[in-house]
Amino acid sequence: MTDYDYDLFVIGAGSGGVRASRMAAGYGARVAVAEERYLGGTCVNVGCVPKKLLVCASAFADHYREASGFGWTAGQPAFDWGQLIANKNREIERLNGIYRGLLDGAGVELFEGRARLLDPHTVEIDGADGGRLRVTADQVLIAVGSWPDMPTIPGIEYAISSNEAFYLERLPERVVVVGGGYIGVEFAGIFAGLGSQVTLIYRGPLFLRGFDEEIRARLAEEMRSRGIDLRFDCQVESIEGSPGSGDDLLRLHLDDGDTVDCGEVLYATGRRPLVADLGLENCGVALGEQGKIVVDEFSRSNVPNIWAIGDVTDRLNLTPVAIHEAMCLARTLFAGEPTAVDHETVATAVFSQPPLAAVGLTEEEARARHDEVDVYRSRFRPLKLTLTDNQERNLVKLIVERSRGRVLGAHMLGADAPEIIQGLAVAVKMGATKDDFDAAMAIHPTSAEEFVTLR
Ligand code: NDP
Repeated sequence: MTDYDYDLFVIGAGSGGVRASRMAAGYGARVAVAEERYLGGTCVNVGCVPKKLLVCASAFADHYREASGFGWTAGQPAFDWGQLIANKNREIERLNGIYRGLLDGAGVELFEGRARLLDPHTVEIDGADGGRLRVTADQVLIAVGSWPDMPTIPGIEYAISSNEAFYLERLPERVVVVGGGYIGVEFAGIFAGLGSQVTLIYRGPLFLRGFDEEIRARLAEEMRSRGIDLRFDCQVESIEGSPGSGDDLLRLHLDDGDTVDCGEVLYATGRRPLVADLGLENCGVALGEQGKIVVDEFSRSNVPNIWAIGDVTDRLNLTPVAIHEAMCLARTLFAGEPTAVDHETVATAVFSQPPLAAVGLTEEEARARHDEVDVYRSRFRPLKLTLTDNQERNLVKLIVERSRGRVLGAHMLGADAPEIIQGLAVAVKMGATKDDFDAAMAIHPTSAEEFVTLR
């Protein structure tokens, strides 16, 4: 017990902040958390959760199309964007309430307002009534996340980010998505599935940099076959807004001289740590590239009692990673078990259509790090599609270190890839070999069985 008001003050009640608060309180610490926006952070409100709901909504287009192959005759399907968004909003509000209940149940005090550090142990919080409150804390955790970042080009004020995409009043007939990362690729699939005409513009030769190249190339083919206009090696120079009505309010001027008209332009060109106006300068907290808080393997900043986790540290910006960092931190601070964060062999998925998922090294990374690498692959038409006119093909890949037989990476493009790779992630993380994979009996007929029957 310290003389401070709290043992731990957390700024930001997103995935990382809430988990750290609850776990620290569980270890007996007196904990408070401040949140100025929404409980659950980006993931719950304008990220993973609503995104997945929208992906599920757009997948119905395929289900309806494929149904006739199985003898079903369905009426003409109609889609109501307003109803989807209203239902999604209701679900998010329910989750906000669950987060509030979790904090309450753990005995964590919640301040709903903006928090700023006056010094390493003093936090000032703006209240909803305009008043300000000062509290002290022994340890401070910054878990404020990140915010969409857009390049400064003429007309960028016409662009929306993913934050606004979740609350559009109507589904645009024509959308341009700029950026070839997770968000750009996922939203391109969502809008296309729901019936918009989509153009995705990416500045490099092939989107999803960092994922296995063959998987990325196949995904590009599949997206094109779904009618998405993918433009690689292309940049937007300016956006022209023509005041008026109709769906083509915006005109994009591209660096190849072409123009594209659309009703919405969604910029998904990365996110930046949300460090402004936190009072970090009052404490001398060191910031790195793009303003990220620089931390060590225990998530400690250069100021001994100030810690940071999640996107604000720009290490591996994924919700489950922030939650892992939170649990390590709570153990380090309040369980007497200094626990370093483990960022190795993290499984991840892009909820594109079809989705892709991966754990471990890509073929390119494996070849760069290991002398001899064996690559096993299978490309096949999933059974479900054989009675339909959908020509989509799955791709599975295992990357194996030849000398020890260890599986260095598993990659998949195709329906259920995130579900399948999540299971395989356990084996890959444990250091399974190709022989271990082969020793597992197949579940037939599945797509997942390809991973244990690769020759
Ligand atoms: P990403 O960093 O994944 O991708 C940003 C994209 O924008 C890249 O293709 C990048 O190109 C491009 N880009 C960056 N700057 C510019 C610029 N000035 N002009 C044109 N293009 C530019 O960011 P996202 O916004 O897609 O996602 C943010 C984070 O959210 C991700 O890091 C991810 O960790 C997380 N996320 C995770 C999801 C999941 O787990 N399924 C889903 C959604 C988000 P280049 O490759 O050349 O740098």
